[in-house]
Amino acid sequence: MPRTWKSGRFVMLGLAVTAVAIIAAPATPCCRSLYVQQMFQVAAAPVQQAPVAPAKEQAKDWAPSVAAIKKKIDTEITSLEELYTQLHANPELSFQEKNSAARVAKELKALGFEVTTDVGGHGVVAVLKNGAGPTVMVRADMDALPITETTGLPYASKQQARTKLGKEVGVMHACGHDMHMTCLIGTARTLTALKDQWKGTLVMIGQPAEEVGGGARRMINDGLFKRFPRPDYCLGLHCEAKKPFGHVSFAEGLLCANVDSIDITVLGKGGHGSQPHSTIDPIVIASRIVLDLQTLVSREIQPGEPAVVTVGAFHAGAQHNIIPPEAKLHLTVRTLKDDVRKHVLDGIQRIAKAAADAARAPAPIIDIEQDDFTPAVFNDAALARKTTAVFREILGKDKVHEVPPTMGGEDFGRYGREGIPIFFYFLGTLPADRVAAAEKGGEPLPSLHSDKYYPTPEPSIRTGVLTMSAAVMNLMPK
Ligand code: ZN
Ligand code: ZN
Repeated sequence: MPRTWKSGRFVMLGLAVTAVAIIAAPATPCCRSLYVQQMFQVAAAPVQQAPVAPAKEQAKDWAPSVAAIKKKIDTEITSLEELYTQLHANPELSFQEKNSAARVAKELKALGFEVTTDVGGHGVVAVLKNGAGPTVMVRADMDALPITETTGLPYASKQQARTKLGKEVGVMHACGHDMHMTCLIGTARTLTALKDQWKGTLVMIGQPAEEVGGGARRMINDGLFKRFPRPDYCLGLHCEAKKPFGHVSFAEGLLCANVDSIDITVLGKGGHGSQPHSTIDPIVIASRIVLDLQTLVSREIQPGEPAVVTVGAFHAGAQHNIIPPEAKLHLTVRTLKDDVRKHVLDGIQRIAKAAADAARAPAPIIDIEQDDFTPAVFNDAALARKTTAVFREILGKDKVHEVPPTMGGEDFGRYGREGIPIFFYFLGTLPADRVAAAEKGGEPLPSLHSDKYYPTPEPSIRTGVLTMSAAVMNLMPK
């Protein structure tokens, strides 16, 4: 999710109307705090429908295991909390998840998994064969964000790192990926302890670089589904910053948006800040582009069709009195429908070119980063029904919420685009009284990617491990 202006810097220095230095925070593609108000029919890549028995029949298969799962969680919870705080205090940026990956690999190896590291970067793939049966993959992402933590927690991160853009930043698990890794390990411990109650092949992966949209693609390209058993189902969870712990939410079908990252290099003609007439000022052109882009969704997309265009970073210039030769804009675009996505991407290019043309500047360089495209997450309907039937049984009907899709992105959607039925759900992480107070107009809750967001560890871990373990066992009955 795009960071707030508060967490970045926005500096405009200039002579008269000529601004020559603007710096803002980088954009990241992941967020899931903004719910749209309607459910839409969306054209998504078709996924293979696996034969799934009706939910009611399935509930019988897993029910006897629930007490055993809870008992195992009781014995592991202290150790899992320690693991969580350790991961939280030591976050690593996308593509830099070396130590987190090593920890995930070590934990899974200790449980008897066959572990392969460095799959698509720092990716970890762990396989446990437990007789004939379906193959189920469980995924946790491992990367953190360039945010300086201000939670005041005793285990708050004090880590610093350098971003791709060369900026020294604080690093924080503000998206809960530390919780995801902890739940993965907790689920692995539970399922290995209860091996006599399920059969099949379990594949657990630690995925790098979700926040920048590249990790799932790199793991797939490095043979995730060729070098290792190809899953019949993929499961994943994500922390939810607006719901109480003990609750989960999900959608059948569309859950998260298409995410595109776009870089625009606005070309001008540099010169002295006191002589703008002899230059073509790229900062003015880029500023016009930023404002014109605000009309794309509001004036060109049919009302009710969700779409977001955010300029998350604007870089240009170095000094008060120099008009630079170029300016750079970095955008994130969120859409739910493929035709809306096309219109918005085309519109961005049209607007940028027109602004340059109007200022007699060369055509801008527009790079739509196909590599970082994150396709929408489209939950397999049958798998969602089968899994949430289990969730309702173990958590209670009032704690399992069907929600509209979000404008957040998740590269978990890529596994679905490989033709595998996927199910991704959100894990509530906050005390119920805090959520209730916020809903009554009290103190607003920080969103994911906020420097103030943190889950309540113990109950969140319990629900994450319980739901994921039950979901896997439900798919791999003895
Ligand atoms: Zn995120
Ligand atoms: Zn995330």
